Amino acid sequence: MNLGIDDLPVREELRGKSPYGAPQLDVPVRLNTNENPYPLPEALVERIAERVREAARNLNRYPDRDAVELRTRLAKYLTDTSGYEVGTANVWAANGSNEVIQQLLQTFGGPGRTAIGFEPSYSMHGLIARGTGTGWISGPRGEDFTIDLPAAEKAVAEHRPDVVFITTPNNPTGTAVPAETVLALYEAAQAAKPSMVVVDEAYIEFSHGDSLLPLLEGRPNLVVSRTMSKAFGAAGLRLGYLAAHPAVVDAVQLVRLPYHLSAVTQATALAALEHTDTLLKYVEQLKSERDRLVGELLAIGYEVTASDANFVQFGRFADSHEVWQHILDRGVLVRDNGVPGWLRVTAGTPEENDAFLDAVRELKCFVG
Ligand code: PMP
Repeated sequence: MNLGIDDLPVREELRGKSPYGAPQLDVPVRLNTNENPYPLPEALVERIAERVREAARNLNRYPDRDAVELRTRLAKYLTDTSGYEVGTANVWAANGSNEVIQQLLQTFGGPGRTAIGFEPSYSMHGLIARGTGTGWISGPRGEDFTIDLPAAEKAVAEHRPDVVFITTPNNPTGTAVPAETVLALYEAAQAAKPSMVVVDEAYIEFSHGDSLLPLLEGRPNLVVSRTMSKAFGAAGLRLGYLAAHPAVVDAVQLVRLPYHLSAVTQATALAALEHTDTLLKYVEQLKSERDRLVGELLAIGYEVTASDANFVQFGRFADSHEVWQHILDRGVLVRDNGVPGWLRVTAGTPEENDAFLDAVRELKCFVG
């Protein structure tokens, strides 16, 4: 029997929808999912094997449900890199920052509640909202993809959302959000009704500016979410985390599944955190490759959105999907995020970036 999703008694809001997913195509140069192009160094691979072997000896037992050692190590990383004191009680970890976001929406959103994001932004915020029964509000962004503060404040005052997402640097545009804008939106959100403001800093290590962690001081309804998928080069590990007031950490534990972080995940993340310096050494290289991409794209004649992330949005095209296909035909996979006129390329190795630049040089005629 040939059944489709819509033939099943699925929830009404899931009817006719398709799952999130960038194409995972087998092409020589993959610059479409903002991954770090460098494999983990061999010494770290060895250390992971060691720690996982130890963990394997205890796999008959459930893992540490509260992941205390890992949260302590993550807190230290945040303190060391931001200068702002973050303690174990301020940190929570989950399987990727997507799960962190899901737990936040399960806790502070849900049926009868709403969340807002300023779009175009990370599409999973809206999709996870839908999955948790939270109403989604698409807030505005300016022509230049920065957050237009008066318009954003107006949207918050009008819709009185329960959760506000601010992605900085923003995906897919690369745009950083200044601290003053985040503060103003926090105030606007609290004035409308008590609500949580989630600053998604998945790409912050690549930014020209600093993390907004110090804004947590005295703001119990603010959350900063982070990931090891990008700067740490460990997208396959699935480890995301948040920093917030300890009460927020207590609150998300109301919805997390017991033992959600496997012992193998915890052991692997702890091994990776022992090698923070080695892992982060690629960040500087990727930042300079990102800046090179911006410079060369501009020199060829493309428009580029200023980027603080490990990717660059470029355009403009009358038909961006057609250009995406032409780039793919040249063996390079970039991302069509559905932002009309624009495509996004992740900074890869210098050789990968050269392959991308060669491809788009040939396609300059498509600039609309
Ligand atoms: N936030 C943003 C802005 C992202 O772009 C991504 C991944 N593309 C995530 C969160 C989720 O990353 P992960 O679940 O791998 O931590």
